[in-house]
Amino acid sequence: MSSTVSDQEKAIKRRGICLVISAPSGAGKSTIANALRAAEPRLRHSVSVTTRQIRPGEKEGVHYHFRSMEQFEDMATKGELLEWAIVFGRGYGTPRGPVEEALSAGYDMVFDIDWQGHLQIRKALPGDVISLFVLPPSLEELERRLHARASDHPDEIARRMAAARDEISHWREFDHVVVNTDLDRAIFEARAVLTAGRLLTRRQTGLADFVKTFGA
Ligand code: 5GP
Repeated sequence: MSSTVSDQEKAIKRRGICLVISAPSGAGKSTIANALRAAEPRLRHSVSVTTRQIRPGEKEGVHYHFRSMEQFEDMATKGELLEWAIVFGRGYGTPRGPVEEALSAGYDMVFDIDWQGHLQIRKALPGDVISLFVLPPSLEELERRLHARASDHPDEIARRMAAARDEISHWREFDHVVVNTDLDRAIFEARAVLTAGRLLTRRQTGLADFVKTFGA
């Protein structure tokens, strides 16, 4: 008797994977994450909660859930956040519910969070996380990109440049690293990381019955 398994069946049986992308502000991680989502139909974006102010062009519930510090602390106390951290003096955290729901339904999730969130989420979801650190080609280029974006006040840009060195010092904690000199190449490489994570043998529980048909 022969048997085949479609990509769709494999995807449904497989628990989703978490792809954490971290980088200093301006290295291009949001652009890379957005490109991955556009290219990968089974990939969902984790929408974080933040206490920072909404920026022009951002939408509530799309880019972030914008909340007061009091509401944020309440969510953290009740265990509604999978991980949280204070970044640039503002609260940032990942709502637990949507992640658990997506993973058990076989959807993968991409997280744009900092190094502190990465360490916490690895502990919270052992075996489910693969991570990628995005380096800018140089500090000068990072500063140029932050100015070109111009969505932040100059003081904020100076603060983010100082924080960039600290964020970069954590690069070795990540499974993979790419240097974003060429955006298309960085997207290609990030997609390769996601694909390799999906294909990890230890995650292919849905294939066990299929493999039995080989008599092995
Ligand atoms: P921004 O204010 O520029 O959107 O983000 C500032 C920093 O907060 C970035 O390094 C971003 O990755 C990080 N960040 C965003 N959401 C979360 C989150 O849910 N958890 C953690 N730990 N960091 C986050």
